[in-house]
Amino acid sequence: MRFSCLARISLATACSALPMGTFARTAPKAIPVSDSPSTIVVIDAGHGGHDRGGIPGQRVAEKTMTLDVAKRLEAILNAKGYRTVMTRSSDVFVPLPTRVAIANAYRNAIFVCIHFNSARRSGANGIETYFYSSPSLPLASAIHYYVSRAAPSSNRGVRRRGYYVLRRTAVPSVLVECGFLTNPTEAQYAQSVNYRQMLAEQIARGIRSRSLVTSRTGSTVTSTDAVPLQPYIDQTRVRDPDISGHRRHRARKSSRSKRTASIHRKKRVTRAED
Ligand SMILES: [Zn+2]
Repeated sequence: MRFSCLARISLATACSALPMGTFARTAPKAIPVSDSPSTIVVIDAGHGGHDRGGIPGQRVAEKTMTLDVAKRLEAILNAKGYRTVMTRSSDVFVPLPTRVAIANAYRNAIFVCIHFNSARRSGANGIETYFYSSPSLPLASAIHYYVSRAAPSSNRGVRRRGYYVLRRTAVPSVLVECGFLTNPTEAQYAQSVNYRQMLAEQIARGIRSRSLVTSRTGSTVTSTDAVPLQPYIDQTRVRDPDISGHRRHRARKSSRSKRTASIHRKKRVTRAED
């Protein structure tokens, strides 16, 4: 049911039109508050505990970086009057179904997952933002617009993918990949407090301005405050060879679902995700 809506607005092309800046010289401009702070923002710091994130041998622990950005985002949103809920606030392992259950416990919520990327190819780099359901696209567009514009990294675009935490949540949900910790340059950025603060500020800015997202497919952008709807790459049927860590977003399947998985293997191959 969601797919027909998405098809109408999908440009299915890489997002390369956005200007790049650097986090050092891009000062966030004042923007009108377009969103009701009554919205509950469930902040999901990826990984934690025994789940370090990333790939084996990765020097910078993803779980540490995600938690730091999540806490910064929490502080920024609280200062703006938002109510926030953290799926974790310390270095603990939280199963994906628990994270989803936390998000689904609130009707008027949005769910923001914070991750950093990894790949065996050290040259892989850039910022990408994932969503799955069509109501999540404006949120993904707004967050990606601001983060990719401010980060001194390449723009890998908005992508549609059926990650468990995106597919199983009943509220608008996005997953931001804030750069590759396996890329020497981006790993260096990530270890900078200023960079992590910038990420949190831009994610917050996207959350606040998500209702300003306008479609490029209709008339032109109507206001200087408007955020252009980002074209997206639909990866629900294909995998990106650069990304090696798909398993990290998977939920452990029950024995029952494993049995049904074998029955539906053919379908799962084409649907690909989690
Ligand atoms: Zn991750």
